[in-house]
Amino acid sequence: MDKKKQRYHDPRRIQKALTELLAWHEKNGRHTLPWRLDSDPYAVLVSEFMLQQTTVATVTPRFAAWMRLFPTIAHLASSSEQEVLSAWEGLGYYSRARRLHAAAKAILERHQGIIPSSEEELLDLAGIGAYTAAAVKAFAFDQRAVVLDTNIIRVLSRWGNLSIPVDTAAGKLALEDLAGAFYPKTRCRSSASALMDLGAMICTAGNPACEECPLMNSCAADQPERLPVKSPRKVTTKITEHRAWWFRGGKLYLQQSQGPRWNGLWILPELGDEKPSGRAVAELTYPITRYRVRMTVYPSKAPPRKGLHSFTRNEIAGLPIPTPHRKAIEAAFRAVAEG
Ligand code: SF4
Repeated sequence: MDKKKQRYHDPRRIQKALTELLAWHEKNGRHTLPWRLDSDPYAVLVSEFMLQQTTVATVTPRFAAWMRLFPTIAHLASSSEQEVLSAWEGLGYYSRARRLHAAAKAILERHQGIIPSSEEELLDLAGIGAYTAAAVKAFAFDQRAVVLDTNIIRVLSRWGNLSIPVDTAAGKLALEDLAGAFYPKTRCRSSASALMDLGAMICTAGNPACEECPLMNSCAADQPERLPVKSPRKVTTKITEHRAWWFRGGKLYLQQSQGPRWNGLWILPELGDEKPSGRAVAELTYPITRYRVRMTVYPSKAPPRKGLHSFTRNEIAGLPIPTPHRKAIEAAFRAVAEG
């Protein structure tokens, strides 16, 4: 066994590192994040769904608004899909909202509205995979679980100086091995929060502040900025889409997406067979999965197609609309007003 491996498999070294980490966290952790204030299982569940692919900064205000609209599992379960999708606006990846809604209904029906704490029952709910089940166990119930999010993966892969790509089966095993040694039987909530906060505040992706890090003395990373190692990225594909601006009699025509992307949400219709002509009223680029989409919106001269619905500007404000389309609509209204 090489020296560095010995270092992180040494229980005394891990125990010391953990003690230093927890002491740092008590003084410096992000204890005011709203879902951490009382570790209410419903708040933890909602936050974990929201944080799956969205940053803390984006989630924080939307989480507060969500909790005002749906303060309990019962409120969420009894709301309509359109209400849930509208409240999710700005967070992206709307399938998460649908799954959270389905999970709330199942918790009400199968668990009398009480969020289960066992991994098996959590994994049986819509939208809950291994990571979310572990996070709910640790953060809501303070039970031992191997929580591995992006921040924790970065900290642990650096601390153990892991050279295996963390997105491969071997890399995941090595990480779980290391995390398993790092998470104690008690204080699992504090340990997971501390590792997560260290990754967000000190051991950051670009430029880790090692000189301020409570793990500096035990960390094995030679070149932390090069870790974690990941498999080569898939190439991003650029695509172009032309959307139609049908504004007639003070109302804008929109279509309800039939999915798979944005199923049930309201979007600008495609220009279809009509050739783009004249000046675009809005242009923007947005990323989605491995695509980079260039959207251009043109005023259409043709009559609105069947199957579209028209809305006033006030009505549009209350519709669930994905962020790129919301931005394009607002930009187009501005462009039309400015002539
Ligand atoms: S010493 Fe540096 S690389 Fe190691 S855990 Fe701390 S911040 Fe990360």
